[in-house]
Amino acid sequence: MIINKKNNYLFSKVTNLKGVGTKLSKYLKNKKIEKINDLLWDFPYSFTDRRSIAKTNELEVGKIQTIKVKVLKYNFPRIRNLPNRIICEDNCGKIDIVFFNSREGYIKKILPLNEMVIISGKINYYKGKYQISNPEYVSNSEKSDFVQKLIPKYHLTEGLNEKSYRKIIDQVLNKLPNISEWHDPKIVQKLKFKNWKESLLDIHKNKDKNINSTSFRRLAYDEIFAHLLILSKNRNRIRKNKKKRKDFDENISREIIDNLDFKLTRCQDKAIKDINYDLKDNKRMFRIIQGDVGSGKTIVALISAYNVIISNFQCAFMAPTEILAKQHYELAKKIFGKTKIKIAMITGKTNYLKKKIILKELLNGDIQFIIGTHSLFQKKIFFKKLGLIIIDEQHKFGVKQRMDLAKKGGDNCDVLLMSATPIPRTMMLTIYGDMDVSKIVEKPLNRKDIITLSKPEEKLDQIILFIKKLIKQKDQIFWVCPLIDESKILNYSSVIKRFKLVEKFFPNRVGLIHGSMDKKDKEDVLKEFLNKRIDILLSTTVIEVGIDFPNATLIVIENANKFGLAQLHQLRGRVGRGKKQGTCILVFKGNLSKNAIRRINILKKNNDGFLIAEEDMRLRGYGDIIGFQQSGIKYFRIADPVHHQDLFKLAEKEISQIEKNAFESNKFDYLMKLFDRVELISEV
Ligand code: ADP
Ligand code: MG
Repeated sequence: MIINKKNNYLFSKVTNLKGVGTKLSKYLKNKKIEKINDLLWDFPYSFTDRRSIAKTNELEVGKIQTIKVKVLKYNFPRIRNLPNRIICEDNCGKIDIVFFNSREGYIKKILPLNEMVIISGKINYYKGKYQISNPEYVSNSEKSDFVQKLIPKYHLTEGLNEKSYRKIIDQVLNKLPNISEWHDPKIVQKLKFKNWKESLLDIHKNKDKNINSTSFRRLAYDEIFAHLLILSKNRNRIRKNKKKRKDFDENISREIIDNLDFKLTRCQDKAIKDINYDLKDNKRMFRIIQGDVGSGKTIVALISAYNVIISNFQCAFMAPTEILAKQHYELAKKIFGKTKIKIAMITGKTNYLKKKIILKELLNGDIQFIIGTHSLFQKKIFFKKLGLIIIDEQHKFGVKQRMDLAKKGGDNCDVLLMSATPIPRTMMLTIYGDMDVSKIVEKPLNRKDIITLSKPEEKLDQIILFIKKLIKQKDQIFWVCPLIDESKILNYSSVIKRFKLVEKFFPNRVGLIHGSMDKKDKEDVLKEFLNKRIDILLSTTVIEVGIDFPNATLIVIENANKFGLAQLHQLRGRVGRGKKQGTCILVFKGNLSKNAIRRINILKKNNDGFLIAEEDMRLRGYGDIIGFQQSGIKYFRIADPVHHQDLFKLAEKEISQIEKNAFESNKFDYLMKLFDRVELISEV
């Protein structure tokens, strides 16, 4: 469906609605509602059912019910502040309708004596009698539709009341456009989908809000479809531009590989093979290496860089932090030592003069390999012939940023990303559907599985004893205290307390990193740890990803239940990266729930990040999965990877079908706009 003036209504601002001014629109914004379309996806959390008429002898105190009664008698007290009381009855008994702060004239009008009326409200019991005070709905018995209905309940925020919010939503629902079906008729039939409009109305009006109801699933499928479609469109666009093939002999890099002090794993070999194929192809590479922490992604990246360089292109390698950039730089210098490749490093700290030289040499092509932080992608940096961009540990790169990146390098530039964020296998396409994926699933041979233990907080002395033993053999220790409270001050003081305690046992050998330190101070402490001037690194925030601390063998994680499983797995991956056995101790406060014990057991028994992420998703729902938060993926408004797994699979299949056929049709424009996916289309 083409978007035009007539059907653009849903995408205009809420202030276009009757009764929504600047003030109300501010309140709506707190609910993340800015466009009219946003209102549609705010589903009711419950319904008040006023449909059926209850007899006065079957009333339930506290429940909202609807009754049909005759008005028997008015009781208007002459004393101020006493409520007006109207006695009504049906053929089963009597009930009082009570009005506070009301006028007699009004009551006589809405409850005329001896007439049949329909009243709906919350049932109370007072002094031996049933009563409804200030009923929400009253009408004469002919207009029963006005009272006898299902009324949706929405989550409200400050400034919004039930009735006015419902009125706003109703306004939109009454004007929903009829949209022609965008899905394959076979799918619609198979899944018994109603059309888009009916499905939405069902959810808002007919109590069909259950996540597994047909109407809900239809809309979820719409959303999943829109999401995967965008990724697929982007993938196609990137591939469409022809690039110059990289021309190199793989045997040359063999020499470097043979000189390493380890043998590559099968997965590493396979990843290099995948990449080489892409580099030599005339379609641009847009690939991600997914591999657990410590699986050896860096060397794969460096070999790829090498192949690009011997094809007479330059390569840029970006790391998220200075320390990590430095570590990659040192490693590159070491393994390329015998070659004539000119390598440079650029970070925020590189001084002006040096930077000037580097910029000049990137432009004239003298520097073939540049490693650095974000500063690599400043506007004023120009390359003579950039052939590959590598980005390490960039899980925060969402679809949009990935596209921007692909644009930056120019037509001949391939892109390689690396990520250690454990995401569930089933979610791979949803998160990385615009890219090709190389997975590194096995660990290097010499690597032992990390031993994972759990301890109650009271047994801290045992942990201290263990640490003493480790320090004697010159091992190092991470100690993580996660945020336990919303309050900064509280967090800070609890960490300082812990720091003081640990420091008492190991004077001058403990470093501390916490959230409110600036980046430079943090890096200084990290360097002290890296250079072994301290043995224990206590930190509140998650320790820098990616840095290789082969000497760290123990990680203590306090309040371990505050973390997701995938995150704990990522944390424990910081240790045991050398030849020595790594250990992870999870420290808990108080008694553990059954669920918590189950979660820990998953962690103890498994060492595969993908599998752990999958279990985590099953136990806690997808919202908590770090892959989702960090992938920068546009949230799903309604689709849920746990409940709608079959729909995800189906959409994947459907889209690969469409890809083959008429892909550029704008049949889906409206759908993608409904789910905010349009802005993710790239112009690469
Ligand atoms: P990550 O995938 O987390 O980036 P790294 O590339 O930093 O992991 O590798 C972690 C450690 O494993 C490094 O010290 C690296 O030298 C080593 N390593 C990489 N590949 C192998 C291998 N095939 N065999 C043994 N050690 C390896
Ligand atoms: Mg790494």
